[in-house]
Amino acid sequence: MNINEKLSTLKYNKDKDSHLSVDNNICRKCIKKVCTYICPANVYEWNDNSSSLIIRYENCLECGACKIACEKNNIQWRYPSAGCGVKFKNG
Ligand code: SF4
Ligand code: SF4
Repeated sequence: MNINEKLSTLKYNKDKDSHLSVDNNICRKCIKKVCTYICPANVYEWNDNSSSLIIRYENCLECGACKIACEKNNIQWRYPSAGCGVKFKNG
């Protein structure tokens, strides 16, 4: 089973507010933008037009890797509200 097939087995309950946020002024000066390739769920995408990060927080697996990987410590991370976020098992 590949990563996309595994991701398709998960369930998500979207929170009304993002549990992830960044300061785009800091992101604009970030050369590597490691968040855009370290996330297993492709939550982060750099948008050249708006010069800001698109954050698809509703797909987050809550692994915490992005917060550790961001060299500028620029990712504000919390768990989603109770009952929201990813569900790894059915039922
Ligand atoms: S790695 Fe951190 S500073 Fe760089 S683009 Fe991502 S969130 Fe912004
Ligand atoms: S916590 Fe994990 S899945 Fe969620 S955005 Fe960060 S790297 Fe991606």
